[in-house]
Amino acid sequence: MTLFWAKLIWFLGVAGWFIIRYPHARRSRRTLTIQRGGRIHDMALLTISFTGMFVLPAIYVLAGQPRLADYPFYPALAWLGVATFASSLWLFRRTHKELGRNWSVTLEIRDRHALVTNGVYRRIRHPMYAAFWLWAIAQALLLPNWIAGPAGLVGFGTLFFLRIGREERLMEEAFGDEYRQYAARTGRIIPRIF
Ligand code: SAH
Repeated sequence: MTLFWAKLIWFLGVAGWFIIRYPHARRSRRTLTIQRGGRIHDMALLTISFTGMFVLPAIYVLAGQPRLADYPFYPALAWLGVATFASSLWLFRRTHKELGRNWSVTLEIRDRHALVTNGVYRRIRHPMYAAFWLWAIAQALLLPNWIAGPAGLVGFGTLFFLRIGREERLMEEAFGDEYRQYAARTGRIIPRIF
């Protein structure tokens, strides 16, 4: 494994993510929305996340900048990054299949929205966000640069922590006790063991 390959794998991971999401994004545009959580807030968070997970690493991968923040490349870390990115894409694909037409980029309740509690949703409530955390960890492992590497953790972390409470309130308003019971037996991104 060389730095060139680590950068290429980061790019292929992002391309894989796009290919998985594309058909769902198309269908989502055609599905009727019943209720929205604050759109401006959502768009601001998505922009921050996109900057950390795509813009900054893309600048590093294509232009090698900011050079001042480089540190030595360790192949073992990059291999760990490959495995992490692969598991992220697997989980990402499963969550899209299982959420189906209930999925949307911003917080929304759709026409005939169903609460999904099976498959990868059985033990955790936010497996898609878990997949994004894995992607952010993979980025940090693949790109040996103190700005471009951790940028995904900071960018997605901002979205996650400022969105999760609002998302759960929206789901609770829409599904009431069904959601409260589901929340009581699951973890957010780590399965509840006790
Ligand atoms: N937080 C989830 C879903 C992210 S997509 C995850 O990480 O897997 C965001 C949209 O999914 C929100 O608009 C919300 O309405 C919907 N959603 C979240 N959890 C859901 C569930 N268990 N069943 C159905 N829809 C859900």
